[in-house]
Amino acid sequence: MALQFFNTLSRSVQEFVPRDPRRQSVGLYCCGPTVHDFAHVGNFRTFVFADLVRRYLEFKGRKVRHVMNITDVEDKIIRRVRETNAPLRDYTAPFEAAFFQDFQALNCLLPHDTPRASEHIADIIALIEKLVARGVAYRAADGSVYFSIEKYQGAGGHYGRLLKLNFEEMRPGERVSSDEYAKEAAADFALWKARVPDDGAVFWPSPWGEGRPGWHIECSAMSMKSLGPSFDLHLGGEDLVFPHHEDEIAQSEGAGAQPPGQPFVKYWLHGAHLLVEGKKMSKSLGNFFTLRDLLAKGFTGREIRYLLLTAHYRETFNFTFEGLQGARAALLRLDQCLTKLRELAGNLKVQALSALVDQFAGALDDDLNISGAWGAVFDWVRQTNRRVDEHTLDAPEAAAALAAWERLDTVLGVGAPKEVEAPAQVMALLDARQAARKARDFKRADALRDGLKAKGWLIEDTPKGARLKRI
Ligand SMILES: [Zn+2]
Repeated sequence: MALQFFNTLSRSVQEFVPRDPRRQSVGLYCCGPTVHDFAHVGNFRTFVFADLVRRYLEFKGRKVRHVMNITDVEDKIIRRVRETNAPLRDYTAPFEAAFFQDFQALNCLLPHDTPRASEHIADIIALIEKLVARGVAYRAADGSVYFSIEKYQGAGGHYGRLLKLNFEEMRPGERVSSDEYAKEAAADFALWKARVPDDGAVFWPSPWGEGRPGWHIECSAMSMKSLGPSFDLHLGGEDLVFPHHEDEIAQSEGAGAQPPGQPFVKYWLHGAHLLVEGKKMSKSLGNFFTLRDLLAKGFTGREIRYLLLTAHYRETFNFTFEGLQGARAALLRLDQCLTKLRELAGNLKVQALSALVDQFAGALDDDLNISGAWGAVFDWVRQTNRRVDEHTLDAPEAAAALAAWERLDTVLGVGAPKEVEAPAQVMALLDARQAARKARDFKRADALRDGLKAKGWLIEDTPKGARLKRI
């Protein structure tokens, strides 16, 4: 089966055919974090989803250029900067650094380009100038520049590509200046916002006077700068469909930079919402978690990544602590299986077991059917365990299975954790367990093993003695 994705633009599952005539290079843009605070687990669901798309395209042999912007100029940030009285960069830098730490804790591959809005003001102004010159944007009396939906439609543009809008209820020329608004408030939206006292020191000179860009134009300018005026894939959370992505299409196509007949973006993919313990995340409900909150509770980035990767990207996902415990148990099963295979395979290197790789790819080709892919993995774990118990698995078979897993893990990114040094307290527990075993006190030995497991350490009994591994 050829790779297929659900394209929000066509509202259907379509075969993915890159624009590159050789079908090799793929341009992928995912809206990045707004660095006004620590990102929460719902935000990270989108980034893990984008990471899966990129990794799977690379698995399929495509050469992906992955771009993710950093939104560091936007209404919420300016509000916070005003409250803290700090220069913009001083305020955003620690949150940006924290974001990338979290991103790596989840083993997401770093994008090839991570442009900051504050460093692309000239590109943003140039794009707005183009829109003004083409008559689809205008300067209002206060010095702000707005995108005219009416003029855009009049010039043959189509506003409402990603979602149906009721134009009957829209009054031409009505304006919305904030970055976020509902579809009922669809109106001419701000590209450039004239400086107001509340902006503090966050402003830049422009042909229309001092001010700052709106959020939507930032993504149009940075994505086209990095990937060209027409590219393959644009990803984001479903909450960005309107107005952010609709506005991005209008701005980018309104500037007319695309080759004839080519859209700004060929495939729009949207990840669904995340609930926590069955409810919408909110600070007042106590179910609002940043990644660092979860790490502080003793879960690992690997467990969180695994859990986020268990649900199909278009399904609302209920993130629970029970689910995290389940993730820990599932990874433990996987690790135990891999340990046995490594013991059997030794240093033997052979070709990957193609049946497993094919089954896995067959599932992911189908609009990233991740449950099918995990189903293939855990069927294989079960069969492997059975054959190890029956002593019917030989070294070449074990090596082929391991090679297949390594292929799969280039996509899943939950591979065996790196060897890390255990703290002294943990090492003391291991010594106590070894002593208990020596004394044939197996009850105590098992209790100590379970204690280590609860602390996130797994004992591997190897011919060279017991080793500890981070779960
Ligand atoms: Zn964006």
